[in-house]
Amino acid sequence: MLPHVTEPTHDEAHDGAHDEAHGGALGERLNWLRAAVLGANDGIVSTAGLVVGVAGATDARSALLTAGLAGLLAGSMSMAAGEYVSVSTQRDSEKAAIAAERRELRDQPEAELEELTELLEDRGLSRDVALEAAQQLTERDALRAHARVELGIDPDQLANPWHAAWASFLAFTAGALLPLLAMVLPPAAWRLAVTVVSVLAALVLTGWTSARLGAADPRRAMLRNVAGGALAMAVTYGTGALLGAAGV
Ligand SMILES: [Zn+2]
Repeated sequence: MLPHVTEPTHDEAHDGAHDEAHGGALGERLNWLRAAVLGANDGIVSTAGLVVGVAGATDARSALLTAGLAGLLAGSMSMAAGEYVSVSTQRDSEKAAIAAERRELRDQPEAELEELTELLEDRGLSRDVALEAAQQLTERDALRAHARVELGIDPDQLANPWHAAWASFLAFTAGALLPLLAMVLPPAAWRLAVTVVSVLAALVLTGWTSARLGAADPRRAMLRNVAGGALAMAVTYGTGALLGAAGV
């Protein structure tokens, strides 16, 4: 989920200078924001499907509340645990790569200077300038320079698995609260309509926002998102209604 694990391609390296100076932190913040919107979207769709499905089978508010709350907690904890595991693994491999780099810098400093020089040449510097830059970077903080240029990571800013887990938990919960409240707060005659309308409206918003943050076409994203949510609710409602009619 970290945006900068891969080596930049040659073309990207050209605006890379720009990104580094202005866009690096901003790009990372946008990635987090996008992940939060997608997490909220998950919470909306899965909890909406759940409570609409139960509403297809029963009018009992306590059943709706229980199912919705259990869905909210199960979903948010599963998202948090998944995120924790994935970011921890990523962090472990980044730490291992940095440790290997530290060893190489200690054991073969000349080869490492040459490597850094060539990497800078790849990014468009002439041999002389690249060598000069590599020497200065090595004098200042060799490990940091290699981590950034060679591995594409900043050793001082490795992703924190707990932050990632909390962010997913909160994003999913925020999304899940909408269908849950829309289902249990209104009077029985209104609850389904209120839930469907507010869920579809929210999916318009999250679809549009995530597309804008990812610089994609917002109208298509909105449409897909709304269609996906509508399908989920239709399927679970139909299933719930069948089970309810069968007296299960
Ligand atoms: Zn190196």
